Amino acid sequence: MRMVLLGAPGSGKGTQGEKLVAHFGIPKISTGDALRAAVAAGTELGRKAKATMDAGELVANDIVIGIVEERLGQPDAQKGFVLDGFPRNTAQAQVLDAMLERLGQPPIDRAIHLAVDDEEIIHRLLDRAQKEGRADDKEDVIRNRIAVYNAETHPLLAYYEQQGKARTVQGTGGLDEIFSRITAALN
Ligand code: ADP
Repeated sequence: MRMVLLGAPGSGKGTQGEKLVAHFGIPKISTGDALRAAVAAGTELGRKAKATMDAGELVANDIVIGIVEERLGQPDAQKGFVLDGFPRNTAQAQVLDAMLERLGQPPIDRAIHLAVDDEEIIHRLLDRAQKEGRADDKEDVIRNRIAVYNAETHPLLAYYEQQGKARTVQGTGGLDEIFSRITAALN
């Protein structure tokens, strides 16, 4: 199973992604996690990305594409994967399709869109800000990330709809309830 998780920041991609990892025994590839690890490790890539991330803007395509390509080439990603936070714009989605072909992997099977309204998103992210203190979980940055999502990432739903791969799942309710909706949508 090769899948893409689409959804606004705070829609639950990370949480549901972990459940999918446990269920299918395939890795989750999160560009946000990889970038935060690079920032924490103080690598050159991390230094390049930090200011952009702190502003809630998208990091340059070549940086995230490089991260994903390296990860998709690893042995554990050969029988499937869950992509969380990538692709985030149409250019990234097109590169992903070409990359899978070049790597000799089958194409994406499903894009699962976790639908959660903006008000609930802001509430969840402000709550997470208090608990985890992520640098980009501040109200003005949160609003910008939602705006960037709506402008650049949400249109990917149409991209995957055209390929017949998109499924929208209600992202509110209990975690297990949402997970059941996702597994049903994967069939
Ligand atoms: P969230 O979904 O909560 O906004 P992520 O953890 O997916 O957060 O990403 C955090 C930040 O990392 C983004 O706001 C962006 O700056 C950067 N980032 C992550 N993935 C990508 C991507 N595919 N393209 C560009 N920037 C990205």
